[in-house]
Amino acid sequence: MSFQKLALIGIGLIGSSIALGVRAEGLAGHVAITTRRAETLKQAEALGLGDSYTLDAAEAVRDADLVIICAPVLAYEAIMDEIAGSLKPGAILSDVGSVKGHVLKVLGARTPEGVHLVPGHPIAGTEHSGPAAGFASLFHNRWCVLTPAAGCDPEAVAGLTGFWRALGSKVEAMDAGHHDLVLAITSHVPHLIAYNIVGTVDDLETATRSEVIKFSASGFRDFTRIAASDPVMWRDVFLTNREAVLEMLGRFTEDLSVLQRAVRAGDGKTLEALFSRTREIRRSIINAGQETAAPDFGRPHDETGSE
Ligand code: NAP
Repeated sequence: MSFQKLALIGIGLIGSSIALGVRAEGLAGHVAITTRRAETLKQAEALGLGDSYTLDAAEAVRDADLVIICAPVLAYEAIMDEIAGSLKPGAILSDVGSVKGHVLKVLGARTPEGVHLVPGHPIAGTEHSGPAAGFASLFHNRWCVLTPAAGCDPEAVAGLTGFWRALGSKVEAMDAGHHDLVLAITSHVPHLIAYNIVGTVDDLETATRSEVIKFSASGFRDFTRIAASDPVMWRDVFLTNREAVLEMLGRFTEDLSVLQRAVRAGDGKTLEALFSRTREIRRSIINAGQETAAPDFGRPHDETGSE
């Protein structure tokens, strides 16, 4: 699976990881890179991520047979205003945004006749941002979900499927609304919970806060990894997947109330039953190859077991 010209719009963690994977696998004859700020473009050029670099998105997409938008979701409208007139007929237009219903609506309304819109979402990432954060193996053995609209050209879907497989991903196509509901509980609500608990700590009076930092290895620090994720990207996720997030948050708060009551009532049976079920979930994630079986996320520990 290879393309003559690939254009990447946005060259942060995801864009740069695609660029590096494309280079490693020889998936494009030419990689054109465009982004919003000159500083980021310069960084991408210094890292040698592509073959051409421009701040003019319309120029980057000209003659490209695959265009992937790798920017925060609320930037898409303005990006489309810039590039729509320069997209090549027959090209595949895709993205990597974490929300798909909104994207399908915004891109669908602005995609010219003859251009094949196949939105995508690689379920892979880290808490780091920017062009230097990328690495070619980010997508290895991770899922990439494609959400083409009904009636989308099957060849375009097959072409993009082959592209993501060549980057090391497993690929599944699904309805955009279903994607948003599933991701609300597997990704968006967990991020909101992490942002909330870290925020709660930040609001504690100074003395307690310094103890939280000191004793963070008891659990808190694992939330801080997620809560260190890019603020703009996550702001856009919650602004564009509101309904699904609120639906899942409703269920979450109901379940939390049950736990709160169990703690108050000293109901050990309820607590132990839930904690046993949740341990099984972690085992299935490890068995599915989506997490390491090494203790403590594989962090190195010295022999004194200092933690
Ligand atoms: P990132 O590292 O913060 O990079 C974002 C890129 O988008 C930068 O090149 C930035 O350009 C550009 N950008 C930001 N605002 C823009 C605007 N208003 N107009 C044009 N370009 C703009 O972000 P990322 O983690 O790669 O995320 C990119 C997309 O991937 C998001 O839609 C996100 O939902 C999705 N995603 C992220 C993850 C993850 O774990 N991070 C995982 C899967 C999918 P400048 O630096 O030039 O401003």
